[in-house]
Parts: sequence; C-alpha cells; structure tokens
Amino acid sequence: MGRSEEGKNGKAGELRDSLDRSIEYLRVSVTDRCNLRCRYCMPPEGVPRKSHDDILRYEEIVRAVRAVVPLGLTRVRLTGGEPLVRPGLPDLVRMLGAVEGLRDVALTTNGQLLAQYARPLRDAGLRRINVSLDTLQADRYREITMGGEIGPVFEGLAAARQVGFSPIKINAVVIRGMNDDEAADFARLTLDEPYDVRFIELMPMGEVGLWSPEAVVPEEETRAAVEALGPLERAPTPATSRGGEAWRLPGARGTVAFISPVSQPFCDECNRLRLTADGKLRPCLLSDRSVDLRAVLRAGACDSYIRAAFAEAACAKPDAHRLREGVTCPTRTPMTAIGG
Ligand code: SAM
Ligand code: SF4
Repeated sequence: MGRSEEGKNGKAGELRDSLDRSIEYLRVSVTDRCNLRCRYCMPPEGVPRKSHDDILRYEEIVRAVRAVVPLGLTRVRLTGGEPLVRPGLPDLVRMLGAVEGLRDVALTTNGQLLAQYARPLRDAGLRRINVSLDTLQADRYREITMGGEIGPVFEGLAAARQVGFSPIKINAVVIRGMNDDEAADFARLTLDEPYDVRFIELMPMGEVGLWSPEAVVPEEETRAAVEALGPLERAPTPATSRGGEAWRLPGARGTVAFISPVSQPFCDECNRLRLTADGKLRPCLLSDRSVDLRAVLRAGACDSYIRAAFAEAACAKPDAHRLREGVTCPTRTPMTAIGG
C-alpha cells in the first residue's frame, strides 16, 4: 500500500450501510480511562490500562476523519472514557476544526475537569458540549460514580456557560431505585437555566452488573414526572439530534428530551459509527463486531484503504437491536472502551 493522498475521491453521502442509512457521524473515544466509576458503565476496579502505543495518536484520528469526510462524514463527537483526562484534548479539537468539510465537532464529558478546560476548548473552536450528570444530589452523585464529587460538575457547567457554549446538554441516565425520583428536579432546572436536559434509558453494556430489565425506567414514566410540572410544548429540535425530540415547559429557558434506545429504538435512523481509543471501528454500540482501522492506518495505507475500512464497518451495521424483545446485548466490551 503506497502512501498517497487521493484528493476528493468520494461523493458526499457515499458512505452507506446495507439498509441505505447514510453514515455521517463518528463518535471517537479518545481514551478508555476515566476519573469516575459510574456503576452502570465502569467496573469498580477500572479497565485494564492500554499501552500508550495501543491508543490512536491525535494525528491518526485526524487522518482517518480527513479521509472519510469526502464520503459524507460531517460530524465528530469526542468521548471516552473521560476525554478530558487525555492530555491536550483542545489540540485535537483544533486539528479537527481544520479538516475541510467537517461541519461539527462536539464533546461528551463528565464535567469533572470542565471548569479548567472550558476556555481552552472554546478557544480551540468547540461549540457544543454534553455534560453527563445523573443526579443533582451530592450524596447520590458519590454513590453513582463511586466517590465522585458533584461540585466540580456544577463549576464546569457554569464555566461552559460563561465562555459561551450553546447548547449545553445535560445527559442523565435514569435508573430505577437510583435517581428515578429526580426527573422533575432536572426539568425544573430548565425553567431558569438554558440547559437541554436529556433523559436517557439505561442500556445493557459490557459485563457491568447493574443492568436488568427492571432497572430501565421507560420513557413514559419519566415524561409523566416532567409533565406534572406543566404541559410540554414541542421545541425546535436541532438537526444534529437523533432519537429524541426536544420539549419545553411553559416559559422555560431550556428544554428536555427523552432518549429511549430500549423502549423507542431509533436504529432505523442510526447514522453513526464508533471509533474506539485503540482504533477499532465499531458498527454498533450493541455489537462486538469491529474493523481494525489502526492496522490500516499504521500500514501506511492510502486514503482509499481507510475509506474501505469505514465502508466495511458500515456494511456490518446490524439492522436493529432487539432489546425491547428482551434480547440483551451480546457485547462484552464496556461503554468506556467503545465511547458512549
Ligand atoms: N465520560 C464521559 C461522560 O460520562 O460523559 C463520556 C463517556 S460516557 C461512556 C458517555 C455517555 O454514556 C454518558 O452520558 C454516560 O452516562 C452514558 N452511558 C454509559 N453507560 C451507559 C449505559 N449502560 N446506558 C446508557 N448510557 C450509558
Ligand atoms: Fe466514566 Fe463517563 Fe463511564 Fe461515568 S459514564 S464511568 S464518567 S466514562
């Protein structure tokens, strides 16, 4: 394989799967390490440490993205593990921002280090940010995250607002018996603050023992708790949103949405692939299939081989998951490795 740049070979929208879903969105896990241990996501002992060489370098991530943008990739979300524990993340944001044709770079973070990074991220060109926060109560936060402090998350949210991030989405995974009584409190937050709160159904991931069908709180239950505060009006839903329209309480500054992969699957509009920190392209969060993009990148491949790896991953996308029928996820890989 020769190292040659092939210019703008592909056409926008060319990266399609066997159901003709157009793949426009890549979630990139930049590390599988994390500074929290959320009970539904990470084993208490953490994940085995990958060697420095196993993890894709920023240049490799950017190279892959640049090769695939001509096929219609328009958006990248950086995730993890906790992306902000990887040194120099704003550098990656800046490098991706320079990729011609890539329209959007976003970040999902637990917010622990956001107060420190909000300004450098903003200066690097990041515009959109999702902060994961499953409870508004300090003691519960410690319980869910196995020892994390909630204060830095609030400081991070305030810093994100101060430097001008908009929208700021708050992702709350709703779990029976853990935080299922807080939906109204989260919705109340949107009355005075311009946050977009997204209630997310718990998914069965990896071998973290928390998941059971009983732990999933169906969307209608969370929605009813929110509607007890007032009728929900439809709010403009950003084009970047999948699987959850936005709603607004009367007079609220922010919005709420319900992301319900179990009770309201949105597989038929799934437009994404995932890239793990060690360079595996994953067609679906809930499947263990993967394509070894790192091997392709490190073999000095030209862009057409990189595109072929993406095309192979796209073709391997399953039609849909079957969680609603009680068929649970066969994946043994934790969410931290795949990039939620
Ligand atoms: N550490 C960052 C964070 O927490 O935002 C980014 C990575 S985390 C894996 C990304 C998202 O996945 C978080 O919003 C987290 O709540 C969600 N998540 C993790 N495990 C999940 C599960 N089993 N079901 C649903 N969402 C999950
Ligand atoms: Fe870490 Fe995010 Fe997983 Fe929590 S959800 S353990 S913060 S990767």
